[in-house]
Amino acid sequence: MSFVWTRIVAVRRAVLASVLGGALLLAGCGDGDEVTIQTTGPAAGSADPASLFTGAAEATTEGDQLVVTSNGIPDYDVGGFPGPSNPNSVEEQDFTFTIPLQPKRAAEPGELPMGPIGVMVNGIPFYNPNNAQGQDAVEVEVFDSCEGHPDPQGIYHYHQYSDCVTDDPGEGHSPLIGFAFDGYALYGLNDENGKPPTDLDRCNGHTDPERGYHYHATKGSPYLLGCYRGEVAEDADGGAGAPAGGPGPPMP
Ligand SMILES: [Zn+2]
Ligand SMILES: [Zn+2]
Repeated sequence: MSFVWTRIVAVRRAVLASVLGGALLLAGCGDGDEVTIQTTGPAAGSADPASLFTGAAEATTEGDQLVVTSNGIPDYDVGGFPGPSNPNSVEEQDFTFTIPLQPKRAAEPGELPMGPIGVMVNGIPFYNPNNAQGQDAVEVEVFDSCEGHPDPQGIYHYHQYSDCVTDDPGEGHSPLIGFAFDGYALYGLNDENGKPPTDLDRCNGHTDPERGYHYHATKGSPYLLGCYRGEVAEDADGGAGAPAGGPGPPMP
């Protein structure tokens, strides 16, 4: 028994030492006998999810939530808006996104709303695959060289993978590029074999031992997410959702 206790204390110290802010990865340790490391949420594979954010984004952990603020302006030059293919301008925003650090798997996958469904680590929101007319946005809309474009509210956003978000060393599992509002992390194009995963569910997610459940960007539709696999708080997008379901301009 004393051996077990010593081991548990040692594990707890190790975990605490590895986590800025302490309680982030700890769950279910209220009775003092057990330390459980959260492996399915944003914390998976990262000691401090808030530290992953760059550019326009500032992130902090508050209790069991990751709070991301951003002005929505990327740290690169956006191109060509407004233009003949898109009448909207890129405008500064006042985003506050609240993301659960311990995602809860929903009984049934949830429909994706229009407007922001998650945020990339550079503070730019991402949307579902469709434009306001219900068409495949990647196929019919025009994007700048970083695969972004502004909606009628001036929100610059992605519908697909952008190599301007973070560096991908191109080996093994792609790095984490963002978080969906259900708390599950979004990764780049490749799995641990350095190839596009072949076992994604219709939400574009799969599970591995290191990361738990997580989403992947894919070259084909749905590109980022196909549905929410976890539960989403009603105010997760901080009110940034497009009121009339219109992220995209009408096509000429
Ligand atoms: Zn994966
Ligand atoms: Zn769009």
